Order: sequence, then structure tokens, then C-alpha cells
Amino acid sequence: MAEIKYFEAGDFDTVVIGAGHAGSEAALAAARLGAKTLLLVTNLNAIAQMPCNPNIGGTGKGHLVREIDALGGEMAKVIDETFIQSRMLNTSKGPAVHSLRVQADKRRYHEVMKRVLENEENLYLVEDEAVRILRDGNKITGVLTRDGAKYNTKTVVLCTGTYLRSRIFMGEVNFSSGPSGFGPANHLSKSLEEDFGLELLRLKTGTPARVLRKSIDFSTMKPQYGDEKVVPFSFSNIAKDMNKDQELCYLTYTTKECHDIIRDNIDRSALSLGDIEGRGPRYCPSIEDKVMRFSDRDSHQVFIEPEGLTTDEMYIQGVSSSLPVEVQQQFYKKIIGLENCRILRPAYAIEYDAIDATLLTRSLEHMDYKGMFFAGQINGSSGYEEAASQGIVAGINAALKVKGEDPFILDRSEAYIGVLIDDLVTKGTREPYRMMTSRAEYRLTLRQDNADLRLTQKGRDLGLVDDERYEGFIYRKEGIEREIERIKKVKVTPTAENNEILKKIGSTDLTNTSSVYELIKRPELDYKKLAVFDPERPEVRDDIIRNVEIEIKYEGYIKKQEIQIRQFKKLENKILDKDIEYNEIEGLRNEAKEKLSDIRPESIGQASRITGVSPADINVLLIYLEHKRRQNEAS
Ligand SMILES: Cc1cc2nc3c(=O)[nH]c(=O)nc-3n(C[C@H](O)[C@H](O)[C@H](O)COP(=O)(O)OP(=O)(O)OC[C@H]3O[C@@H](n4cnc5c(N)ncnc54)[C@H](O)[C@@H]3O)c2cc1C
Repeated sequence: MAEIKYFEAGDFDTVVIGAGHAGSEAALAAARLGAKTLLLVTNLNAIAQMPCNPNIGGTGKGHLVREIDALGGEMAKVIDETFIQSRMLNTSKGPAVHSLRVQADKRRYHEVMKRVLENEENLYLVEDEAVRILRDGNKITGVLTRDGAKYNTKTVVLCTGTYLRSRIFMGEVNFSSGPSGFGPANHLSKSLEEDFGLELLRLKTGTPARVLRKSIDFSTMKPQYGDEKVVPFSFSNIAKDMNKDQELCYLTYTTKECHDIIRDNIDRSALSLGDIEGRGPRYCPSIEDKVMRFSDRDSHQVFIEPEGLTTDEMYIQGVSSSLPVEVQQQFYKKIIGLENCRILRPAYAIEYDAIDATLLTRSLEHMDYKGMFFAGQINGSSGYEEAASQGIVAGINAALKVKGEDPFILDRSEAYIGVLIDDLVTKGTREPYRMMTSRAEYRLTLRQDNADLRLTQKGRDLGLVDDERYEGFIYRKEGIEREIERIKKVKVTPTAENNEILKKIGSTDLTNTSSVYELIKRPELDYKKLAVFDPERPEVRDDIIRNVEIEIKYEGYIKKQEIQIRQFKKLENKILDKDIEYNEIEGLRNEAKEKLSDIRPESIGQASRITGVSPADINVLLIYLEHKRRQNEAS
């Protein structure tokens, strides 16, 4: 084969490799912050693809989407335009876990995001595969591609997802391929190993079959309806503009016969055959994992979800598998309502290369290679939302790097994005990491309804939030503050008439003069019920009312959490130098010396979250820091 002569294809500030959910947000953020950005993708049709579940959001993930939007990202706006069903989950629980989850028209989502990328100023979209990254010492200088191009760049953002040396598994059958029939990216891994000395991990995930709609008997299933009142994901949209006809999803169940077929053939799953070495996502187990792990159960829930308005492919949620197609054709027919199902695309598992994210700082830059950023599934996360969250942060930081400005970091008390990145770079992961509300210790403060109040000013200061979004934010922020102040002054006196009204609306008598503000704190009362005591009330938008109510009802808990956050920040602000020789610090245990030297935490706070670093080790470090401080003062 002839040797490739690479041609000079142009100079860029940032090259983003991959246009999945991470790459799309990274490229848009970098370009919008003024960086001349090249976005490389193996196939333009692979842009913002959803190779698995046709939905965005859900517990913890909905919070991420809102935060991306609050910072000036794109995912929320695209899904508001392309959703086909919308539901607010966990409404019977506290606001900290309320989570929006919407069904997407996958093809439309891809098209709308592709259009946004095609028309973004400063962004150059090219269909090509990155095969090598160039560096000069520890500085990134360029990218070589399959088509023979050499791009010069100051920074690179790797967002290669599930494509690096990816392999598909269906029982005894396995072959080199990307997801959804797209080609794999088989060259870049070698460059990461040989040019950068990176040890790559093998991870895996799986997806269920797609079945033809008309081959399903829905009469045996429970329809799942969307919410009547649709809440938008993006703060740039308002509820009244969101109403449209919504598609149905359906709830059904596997059967004992289905489980028996799986058990009888378990030795033919790619995992049992030992062909797959990668670890899969604990919270998205395959059907064979569920059948073997919960052997006492004769049925598992299955959700049938439409993939879009212009296709009759139905997604069989909860039944991903790496069993042979022959076996799939048997056990899918044993799911209630799928007795005559026609499989359009079989289920499969996919294995791919990823990096150990503990090699990264919280800006998602590699610790040793300046200008090299990583985002998305390549960092060991799983999910469109987790990928997009890392993408926007990596894109922002690539642009700031080019400008020579300090990195943009979100900590665990500011955003779910901060929790996600801190968990990945401080603890690393050996299986695909999925976001959940239980991972966020400050979740009462990090609610999805206040993401803009927490982050939009930061996005504005960066230059990522445009005027229209910013005006919308100020309208909400001031609206919430103004209404809270106003209802503090709306007094309710303990008259017989008022107490009669209180009884009528399900509450108890007043003994002293109170206010609408105070009364909202009563669990049985809310802003709307108290309108009777507030005749001068102005017209207030539902989303503002929601924030007003939550701020008031949870005031005590929120205040308590603010104290905890102040404690947390104290340790986060105790900075640790990157070059500390931990092996020389007396009193540190060997395990701690090893872990601290590997992960090189940026603060005492981060050090305290490293597995294997004990509170005693942290005390030793605090004494060491104090000693250093005094030495510096003395010198
Ligand atoms: C089979 C399957 C099942 C999944 N199941 C789940 C699940 O159950 N739950 C869940 O939360 N998530 C699941 N996911 C994960 C989810 O799809 C990903 O988390 C998400 O798509 C990751 O986004 P990303 O941007 O990191 O990468 P991707 O969306 O994978 O995008 C990567 C992009 O990089 C491009 N690319 C790769 N290498 C190169 C190169 N060298 N040069 C140029 N372009 C390149 C590709 O063309 C693509 O555009 C699944 C994914 C797959 C494939």
C-alpha cells in the first residue's frame, strides 16, 4: 500500500473528534467562544445519533440537560423541538428528584442538531476519521485523518464515544463495527497508546432489538401517556408553546417461558463465551443479566417506545441482549404482546476503547498533555446527557486554553455536571458510569428547576449565553425574587372569616397574623390555593410559581445545606500543588501515597474523595500544607 502523503488542510484553534452528544456540545461551545473549530466525524449521518434508548432525561439525567441549557448549550433546545412524548418523573416525591424525561424522534433530533452545527459561525464540519494526534513534547500540534489531511491545532477534544476499536457481539457472532451499523474507528487507539502511552480500558454496553410496530399486539399492554401540561427542557422555551399531540409508550412484561429460553441458552451469550472482556453498565443490565441475577422472578417490566414519527421501528426497553439472533427470535416472542413480533434490528452488545479518566483534571484536560481534552463515553460515562455535559465543559476549556485563560470548573456543590466530572476524574470507573440523583450529596440545592439560577450567570460571564437567553434568565430570576418579597408582605389575619376559608381549603386556623409566604410552608397549602388571600396578585408564570414555592417550602433544608456547602468549599479551596512529592510526606500511608501520586488531586477536598485516602491521611496533608505556608511566610 502506498505511503499516505498528508496535505496541509488548515490551521485551527480546536479540533473536536466525534460529533455525538459530547462532540456536538464541545464544538458549539468552543466555536461560540470564538475558537476556530474543526469538527471531524466518521459519517455525517452519525451526528447526534441515539444508538440506544429513544429518550432524553430521567432521574439525574434531566438535571444534566437543564444545566447544559443554563450554561448556553444546545441539547435542551433540540429535544424541545423534536420530542414526541414528555413526562415529569417522581412528582410524588420531593423537588430534588423531580426529573423530566422525554421521548425523542431520533431522526429529527439528528437532523436538527446537524443543522445547528452546519450553520454555527467559526465551526467547520468535515466528514473524515481522525487516525492520529500530533504533539510536540507535551503540547498538542495537530491531527492526521483517514483521507490524508493534516490539520494544525492548539487543542484537541476527543469525543469518540463507543466507536474506538468497537466490536459488536451477538452470541458466537462478533465483528468490527460501530453502533447502529456505522463503521468503527480503528486507528486512533494506536496513536493514543503509542504516541501518548495511554493504557486504554475496554468497556461495553448493549441495546435491545427494534421491532416492527404492526407486528405488536398493543391490546395486551398498558398505554403510558405523556403529561397534559408539557414542561420544556430549555429555559428559553415556555410551557404554553410546548403543547402538541404526543405518542404513546406501552408497558408489558416478560414471561417464565421467555426466561426459560434465556436460561437454556445462557452459555451462548457473548459474555458466557468469554468473547467480551469489557465491563457493562450496572444500571442498564441485559435481559440475561436480570434473568440470572433475579432467578426468583418470572417476569420483568418491558417498555415499548416509538423511535420516531416517520418510522415504525419500536424500541423494546429493558431487553438488551448479547445472545445469538436465533435465540433472540425465540425469547422476544415470549414477551406479552410480542408473540408475532418481527425483529427489524437485533439486540447486540458493543465493546469499545475508553480511557482512565483519573488521568484528567476537572477541566477534562489530560494532566500531562497540554491542550488535549476528553469528553463523553470515552471517559467511562454512559448516556447522551452525561456525554453532552462533559462535551460543553471540554469545549469551553479548549477555547479558554487557546485564550490563555483559567479553566472553567464546576464543583459538586454547583452542578450535577460538577458531580459527574469529579466522580470520573477523582474515582475513575471500571464500568460505564450513569448519573443518578443519589450521587449528588447537595441534591436539594442542585434541582432541575433552578439550574439557570445556579449556572446562567456563569455561562453569560464566559460569553456562551446570548442576549435572548440572558433576558429570559433575568426575567425569571427577578420574577422569583420579586414575588417572594411581595407575598412576605401579604398579611393574613386570624379572623373568623379567614379561618373559615382556611378550613375550606383543607388547612387549620390561624392564631396570629401571618403572611401568604408563611402559609405556603404548610404542607397542605400552596401558592394557588392561597390566591383567595391575595386579591392584588399579579399574573405570574407557572415556572416562576414553582420556584417560589420550592424556595419557601424547603427554606429550612436549603439553609442547612448551604452551611454544609460552605464547609465543603473550605476544603475545596485548600489547593494542592500538582507537583507535590507525596512519597516524601511522612505519616501518609503507602496506599494514600500511591493513590495521591496517581490522581494528583487539585485540592484537599478532592483528595478526601479518593478511594483509599483516609481522614487520617487528610490530616497529615493539612499539617503538611500549614507547614509549607509557614515556611513560605518565613522565607
Ligand atoms: C449499543 C449501545 C447501547 C447503549 N446503551 C445505553 C444505555 O442503555 N444507557 C445509556 O445511558 N447509554 C447507552 N448508550 C450510550 C450512549 O449512546 C452514549 O452514552 C452516548 O451516545 C455517548 O455520547 P458520545 O458523544 O460520547 O459518543 P457517541 O454518541 O458514540 O458519538 C461518537 C462520535 O464520534 C465519532 N467518531 C468516533 N471516532 C472518530 C474518529 N476517530 N474520527 C472522527 N469521528 C469519530 C462517531 O462518528 C460519532 O459521531 C449505548 C450506546 C450504544 C452504542
